[in-house]
Amino acid sequence: MNGPEPAASRLSHAYILSGPAGAARRAAADRLAMSYVCTGENPPCGVCSGCRKAAAGIHPDIVRVGEDGKDVNVAAVRALRSDAYILPNEAPRKVYQIENAGSMNASAQNAMLKLLEDGPPYAAFLLLAESDGDLLPTVRSRCETLRLDRLAGEAPDPALVEQSRTLAGLLLTGGELERMEYCVGLEKLDREGLAALLDQTVERLREGLLTSPDRKRALALTEHVKALRSALDFNVGPGHIAGWLCAGSMPGNPNKTR
Ligand SMILES: [Zn+2]
Repeated sequence: MNGPEPAASRLSHAYILSGPAGAARRAAADRLAMSYVCTGENPPCGVCSGCRKAAAGIHPDIVRVGEDGKDVNVAAVRALRSDAYILPNEAPRKVYQIENAGSMNASAQNAMLKLLEDGPPYAAFLLLAESDGDLLPTVRSRCETLRLDRLAGEAPDPALVEQSRTLAGLLLTGGELERMEYCVGLEKLDREGLAALLDQTVERLREGLLTSPDRKRALALTEHVKALRSALDFNVGPGHIAGWLCAGSMPGNPNKTR
């Protein structure tokens, strides 16, 4: 990676997350939404009150629109606009996660465009669509586009990179209690979400190998996370993996060699 990833305050005010509807797209949007309401140092930290509420789906400043599968029509966008002018409850930002933004017709999209152009500065919008081509060029021009096929490849979303950096740091230098606390948040991730996080954590650990003061241990940790990532592909439950990762109950866990 080149330099630090953006903190929550530097996240864009609007993203299009394009890709097939499903758990992976949903997990990416949830992680990104969590970053906006995180009050920790490396959003999403996974342990602050904001992150925990987001993970539990009860954060008052994350508003989900279109979850019922109905088209997001112009009335829905106008209602969203009125709501956006009510200040956030407790987070620095208020996030609108629009599940089927591609269903907006031209008038709904134009109403959305006005909100993107001159909505309140604390409001953030995550537009989920099969393809960014489902949205008008004027709407696209106001958003940053994250393509989910790319999220899994060489250009992961900033929130995921931050989270993997936090996890790698905790594994390398964190205390057992800190790891356990972090683990509480991980248990709420689904299989795809945890797999993406572990892939990125392996990358962060590899990046740190050259500069690590204890290369042997860093290498062992990298292998450990890789093994857990493989176990996910063999139908081991994400809850078990998260537990092994953080609680150190797996045989030969390098955390126990300290
Ligand atoms: Zn947090």
